[in-house]
Amino acid sequence: MDLLVVGSGFFGLTIAERAASAGKKVVVIDRRSHIGGNAYSEAEPETGIEIHKYGAHLFHTSNETVWEYVNRFTKFTSYVHKVYSHHKGVVYPLPVNLGTINQFFQAAYSPEEARALIKEQAGEFDVKTAQNFEEKGIALVGRPLFEAFFRDYTAKQWQTDAKKLSGDIVSRLPVRYTYDNRYFNDKYEGLPVDGYTAWLEKMADHPNIEVRLNTDFFDESQPLNKKAVVGKTPVVYTGPVDRYFDYAEGELGWRTLDFEQEVVPVGDYQGTSVMNYPDANFEYTRIHEFRHFHPEREYPNDKTVIMREFSRFADKDDEPYYPVNTPDDRERLLKYRALTEQEPKVLFGGRLGTYQYLDMHMAIGSALSMWNNKLNESL
Ligand code: UDP
Repeated sequence: MDLLVVGSGFFGLTIAERAASAGKKVVVIDRRSHIGGNAYSEAEPETGIEIHKYGAHLFHTSNETVWEYVNRFTKFTSYVHKVYSHHKGVVYPLPVNLGTINQFFQAAYSPEEARALIKEQAGEFDVKTAQNFEEKGIALVGRPLFEAFFRDYTAKQWQTDAKKLSGDIVSRLPVRYTYDNRYFNDKYEGLPVDGYTAWLEKMADHPNIEVRLNTDFFDESQPLNKKAVVGKTPVVYTGPVDRYFDYAEGELGWRTLDFEQEVVPVGDYQGTSVMNYPDANFEYTRIHEFRHFHPEREYPNDKTVIMREFSRFADKDDEPYYPVNTPDDRERLLKYRALTEQEPKVLFGGRLGTYQYLDMHMAIGSALSMWNNKLNESL
């Protein structure tokens, strides 16, 4: 073995695939019983509808290198992601666009008029100087829209004072003064034609790659454990960085998700793939209806699969999904970063390994950079 990769999500598999193609022998371990991390998907048995087991994953990128790379493993459908938001019994288009603004204010503002209105409603806040989620959110969409679509949704999603959350979280969503309600701005977008798991398996399908599932890096009863390997074999670790160091600098804040999946006896439950529920009187943040991700497929027309999504703080035993990234977390992260630099022959990557809110294309892009700039020469 030339390299041990801990974690078989997109970051880990990209590293493994690159190293294997360069002639290195790679072992990938994952403590779960399947590959793919949170991008894993499977057919719901009763309906055959592909469900994203750990929440909806939408692939999009503007990075040419990443787009070329991912197309080696799968083709993409022409799916374009759109999200709607159910506020006080009325459904609005997201991200905030001229349609949302005019529907909310029961008006027919031109782009210029809408801009002037939102600027006035943003009051003292400005996008360039906003210090946190709340200031940036109000600066972007004004106070009334912020309160309708962002304040309570964010309270459910993060359970953290919006003044302690980064403004970068809210600027993931575009704001448009046109009627375009595509959720993403990227040049390329689509879903893997044969599903996420087929794509992930194709990445791992190389004679130089061995995948061992149900194998926990921290379990000393299995041979490829941290104590036995670190310092001897190069490692790329993609699990939670605080877990790696046994929480020596304290626990970083992570959010986890719970899902309530249901097969509903109707052909179409909500008419779209994702409906957000920004109001406080719904406990869930959104409902996914998976058939709508693949309108090109033949799915049963008398049944559909929906999944309600709930968010909460992750305990040590829960699956971490989102780094909360408060100022306290950032301070702790700096200490963990210093520790990672001293770790012999171990590189840290991915959403969990770097404590960064990376999208799939970012995880793949950063794995390609790690391979090209650091690992390729050193292995
Ligand atoms: N957000 C919100 N209302 C919405 C959608 C998003 O307040 O209807 C905020 C919320 O804080 C969320 C963030 O914007 O965590 C980023 O949303 P995105 O849809 O990018 O989150 P993801 O799909 O990654 O969970």
